[in-house]
Amino acid sequence: MRAGIISGRRQLEFKTFSRPSIAAPGTAVIDIALCGICGSDVSAYRDGEGYPPFLSGHEWVGTVVDVGSDVHGLHRGDRVIAATPPACGRCPMCLAGHAERCAELTALSFGTHPLTPEHGAYAERITMPVEALVQVPDGVSDEQAVMVEPATVALHAVRLQPIRLGDAAVVIGAGPVGLFAAQMLRLAGARAVTVVEPRARRRALALELGANTAVAPDDAGDAVLAATSGIGADVVLDCVGTESALRSAVELSRPGGTVVMVGVATGAVSISPLSWLSKEITLRASLAHLNHEFAMTMSFMESGQLRSEPMRERTIGLDGLEEALSSLASGGDEIKVVVDPRL
Ligand SMILES: [Zn+2]
Ligand SMILES: [Zn+2]
Repeated sequence: MRAGIISGRRQLEFKTFSRPSIAAPGTAVIDIALCGICGSDVSAYRDGEGYPPFLSGHEWVGTVVDVGSDVHGLHRGDRVIAATPPACGRCPMCLAGHAERCAELTALSFGTHPLTPEHGAYAERITMPVEALVQVPDGVSDEQAVMVEPATVALHAVRLQPIRLGDAAVVIGAGPVGLFAAQMLRLAGARAVTVVEPRARRRALALELGANTAVAPDDAGDAVLAATSGIGADVVLDCVGTESALRSAVELSRPGGTVVMVGVATGAVSISPLSWLSKEITLRASLAHLNHEFAMTMSFMESGQLRSEPMRERTIGLDGLEEALSSLASGGDEIKVVVDPRL
């Protein structure tokens, strides 16, 4: 069995692994149905920074084909997605009462979990530790389920906010996370959601998905002032993570507003501390998601309150992966490309 692994700058390698069929204790073997290409896969491919093999294809849905002898509550035929595991209850952070920042939550992503898979889901099958699996309800299709991970990044970011009914919110960046965040902010009671995005196609999609206004970065200041009686937004979510996005997040926020870092800025950025100070901005950072939030996202999808289907642009086979990564890394405009390893 081959698995696609992003191994360096502009490098996708297909490595050979034995095709798992019997699950060891604590694990399940899953047939992958769909795997989304994440923005972090694209940046790893573009920039060549070290990328754990397991992360090459981490937004997936599949069907359980075998479970370890000690596994309860999960069976052959169950549909599952990969999720953040629940808090362990034993590590120093859990014991100090900070279970939401349990060291185990990130162990898989950082590759320190003893059962971390050797590859991601750009493959027919994967073996996963069962605590990192969440079942997909019947009312959520595979096409929806493959978008649950990025949607839950947005849900987590919105849940961290002190947002109140009637607040004005801004989302910077209309990639999948930004487009989900705009929908979640409406669900959370925001009166006006302004999406800031340079590409016209993405702005149109933001409006289709329920943003009140979608503007190019140059028009954002005026649009936000117009939507907020001249004071600025209560909450600004930066779903991009560049220096200019962070800077405009502060500019678009009202005095006393909250700026949330959702997009991952990997390089150094310079900020002007006085601009934060003079507005008494609250800065929140939002990292990934928590185990119980995946079911919340899926219930919003099941009820139709959270839409993902307009974001999916095309479905490709493993043979098309390199071309798709390369086009996305060169600034391609597709919002979400999904891999079906059976094609
Ligand atoms: Zn991702
Ligand atoms: Zn813990």
